[in-house]
Amino acid sequence: MAIRFANLGNRAQLIVGNGLVDVEQASSGRFPSDPMQALARWDELRDWGAGLASAAAPFDEARLGPPVPRPAKVFGIGLNYRSHAQEAGLDIPKSPLVFTKFPNCLVGPRAVVVLSSGFVDYEAELVVVIGRRGRRISASRALEHVAGYTAGQDISDRKLQFADKPPQFSMGKSIDTFGPIGPAVVTLDALADPNDLALSCDVDGERLQSARTSDMIFTVAELIEFLSGLCTLESGDLIFTGTPAGVGSVRNPRRYLAPGQTITTEIEGLGRLVNRCVAQA
Ligand code: ZN
Repeated sequence: MAIRFANLGNRAQLIVGNGLVDVEQASSGRFPSDPMQALARWDELRDWGAGLASAAAPFDEARLGPPVPRPAKVFGIGLNYRSHAQEAGLDIPKSPLVFTKFPNCLVGPRAVVVLSSGFVDYEAELVVVIGRRGRRISASRALEHVAGYTAGQDISDRKLQFADKPPQFSMGKSIDTFGPIGPAVVTLDALADPNDLALSCDVDGERLQSARTSDMIFTVAELIEFLSGLCTLESGDLIFTGTPAGVGSVRNPRRYLAPGQTITTEIEGLGRLVNRCVAQA
């Protein structure tokens, strides 16, 4: 049965029906309240959560924090959609192009995004959440290590990214608030086809990205095989799997996020992020 894992006030929650169940309270202390510690026992938590009845308290999505607040690792994958590689005028990568988003950038599904310059861009992305730790995981077994998927925004300061040659990806994508994720980690059994989800990004109601995850160059399973061949994947580790065509920096004319604008990111079956942009103080 499908599980939706969320974070309210840094306490692990399950979304059941239209309400929240506090994991530590509802399990009488069997599971810890800390979201990262709860995620570390994912297989057990999933089995327990599947049996919950839907007598949960209603909640306001705006109060949710990032469902995975302090992962050990946050991988980003560059140029992982054919449509985006084409619009950027770059060759299709032969192996995954990996960068880091440092975990300080993670915020909740309705958090504000603080613009660091006049060159900040949006990137709607499917985010993979690792459940079961592992090393050298084969693609054929990769999804057994996935807790679930969530929606993400790989917010990017292009001025910093392309300040010099070669470009540097990690810092321009790791500024505080540059990683909205949520609203929940959703298990793959909730999705009709986890390899083919519609994803979109609107800015102030205008659709700027619209694609399907089946257009990815490296599938989720292939990314896990590649990454786990190099480093141990831990529960809670995140993989931002790349963005499709339509980002602002390769549009003609170019367009960047402005204070007061609202970014709406939606992925089929996972829910939506609604993030308002504000100027840096
Ligand atoms: Zn990205």
